[in-house]
Amino acid sequence: MNSSIEKKDIRLLGHDALLATFVEMGEKKFRAKQVEEWLWAKGAMSFDEMTNLSKPLREKLEAHFVINGITEETVQFSNDGTIKTRFKLHDGSLIESVLIPVPRDKRFTVCVSTQVGCSLTCKFCATGKMKRVRNLDASEIFDQFVLVNKQALEHFGHPLTNIVYMGMGEPLLNYKNTLKSIELISNPDGLNFSPRRVTVSTAGISKMIRKLADDKVRFNLALSLHAGDDLKRDQIMPINEQNNLEVLMDSIEYFYQKTKNKISYEYITFQNFNDSIEDAQKLLKLCKRFPVKVNIIEYNPIDGSSFLKSAENRIDEFAKYLTTRGVTVTVRRSRGKDIDAACGQLANKT
Ligand code: SF4
Repeated sequence: MNSSIEKKDIRLLGHDALLATFVEMGEKKFRAKQVEEWLWAKGAMSFDEMTNLSKPLREKLEAHFVINGITEETVQFSNDGTIKTRFKLHDGSLIESVLIPVPRDKRFTVCVSTQVGCSLTCKFCATGKMKRVRNLDASEIFDQFVLVNKQALEHFGHPLTNIVYMGMGEPLLNYKNTLKSIELISNPDGLNFSPRRVTVSTAGISKMIRKLADDKVRFNLALSLHAGDDLKRDQIMPINEQNNLEVLMDSIEYFYQKTKNKISYEYITFQNFNDSIEDAQKLLKLCKRFPVKVNIIEYNPIDGSSFLKSAENRIDEFAKYLTTRGVTVTVRRSRGKDIDAACGQLANKT
């Protein structure tokens, strides 16, 4: 019998390849459909769970394939309800996902990772201090949703309502698997989660933002902006050197024109770096070309970074400057301060 290393991950086969495999094995096509239901609608992690298949068929599948699922490795519970999970992948790599509950609004959001590590070295980010190891498969992103959804049901009696692709990694540098995972999660024959409740956040890869527009995606786009001019953005996000603000704004406007999907800017305020009224004026100028919402995020400081979080009154003044000029602004106080809540902090911890 094959060792598990030589066996193929059944979830990496597309629909057509799975059908062809079943025909080759002398099995009826509808059996392939049943397996797909187990994998993508019920989130099965083993062939044993597929109880409407005969035992010999389950054994046959077991002999040829594996399901390379992810497993919970460490779970941290914050006093504010946030749950952060470090997941282990089949090759031993570690990633993290965060459940952010807002029970009073019946809003339960999961933040998922798309890469092990990240290549973009943003200066304020714990993940940016890790090397990029590899892209996640679509199924590994899908699993984060399924397992965190179970946590939401278990701890809050409510399923997930939103997904943000804002965890470890740059989703648009794992373009194919990011889109595939959204397709899997939103498949009407599967979990049927609305793409309108999905937000993909990017550090700003203009070429890929244009591709999203050309591919007519239905999910929302968030840009991690964090500075209103190139000089400052270059200092904290090296990706800005090849994708400056003018090029980025052009690509986002293109995205908006083609899709009309929701767009937001993520703006982490750092004390005395990007939190002055002059900074808010620069940000305001970037809010004029297309409808955009601004999410101001309180910084969760990480070890080895010189950035500090802004004082509350500075955040309030910054936000007020924008709201009084017609911009929709949400201020997100940092969640999970008592756990390793900054992106990459938990996965990077050994
Ligand atoms: S902020 Fe995002 S893109 Fe930047 S290093 Fe961290 S994970 Fe990568």
